[in-house]
Amino acid sequence: MGELRVRSVLVTGANRGIGLGFVQHFLKMPKPPQWIFATCRDPKGQRAQELQNLASKHPNLVIIALEVTDPASIKAAAAKVGEHLGGSGLNLLINNAGMVKPTMLENETLEAMTEIYTTNTIGPLLMGQAFLPLLKKAAQGSPGSGLSCSKAAIVNMSSYAGSIEDVYVWEFGQVVSYRCSKAALNMLTKCQSLAYKEHGILCVTFHPGWVQTDMGGGGSFKPPLTVDDSVQGMLKVLSSISEKDTGTFLDWEGKILPW
Ligand code: NDP
Repeated sequence: MGELRVRSVLVTGANRGIGLGFVQHFLKMPKPPQWIFATCRDPKGQRAQELQNLASKHPNLVIIALEVTDPASIKAAAAKVGEHLGGSGLNLLINNAGMVKPTMLENETLEAMTEIYTTNTIGPLLMGQAFLPLLKKAAQGSPGSGLSCSKAAIVNMSSYAGSIEDVYVWEFGQVVSYRCSKAALNMLTKCQSLAYKEHGILCVTFHPGWVQTDMGGGGSFKPPLTVDDSVQGMLKVLSSISEKDTGTFLDWEGKILPW
């Protein structure tokens, strides 16, 4: 297994849950990235307190405002990241921000379907477009042929709930808008992998496991996985995947999941 050695990484939805877990794990690496861009909707607010504490101790952690449903906010964030990076590129983009509503098929609405699709699917699409020049630059600046996450990669945080073949945990919640948005995110990842391969960018979509976060722990059942275990597992997988894995749907243990 190779080592995940990124000079720069950006995580969306980094103020809590799995996103915050990624930031904490990157900071604790033996050779942490030179730049960790932790994005959240309200960097100065109460909900970003933990990120602010970390940033006060780690100069390589930069908090950037980002609302993934707002193209202007994405554009501004990409410009800021570009300024920090100087002439170099962004190695790893982790599209982690996401949302769910506890809906049933019969009470889905135009508003809920639209809001969730915009956040979970269109957000990662726009992020990939806006950060493409920086990802390309990272790929061009890395030695060797072949794709890897240390070179340039987009990681989309999906969910097994979006698997059409398995319809994971249907009995725990129909969440139709969420399932549709993640199934579409999986298709987006496949499309990104085909279009961005020639630029040297690896693209994968992940199921992080059922994780103890605000989202995962919303019901009466305690999810089996801690944020630490999930993130540690995903980082291990990211360090080992290569060109043959681009465009795949993986879980936190590296298992290939059915679409
Ligand atoms: P949380 O609900 O704990 O955190 C969600 C994060 O996304 C928050 O930081 C939130 O910011 C951010 N976010 C939501 N909407 C937006 C937006 N429009 N713009 C910017 N940021 C936004 O979720 P998890 O950490 O559990 O989930 C992270 C990812 O993993 C999601 O994509 C989720 O679908 C996926 N996942 C999680 C599973 C689990 O069991 N936890 C299982 C399968 C997939 P704010 O604080 O401002 O609301």
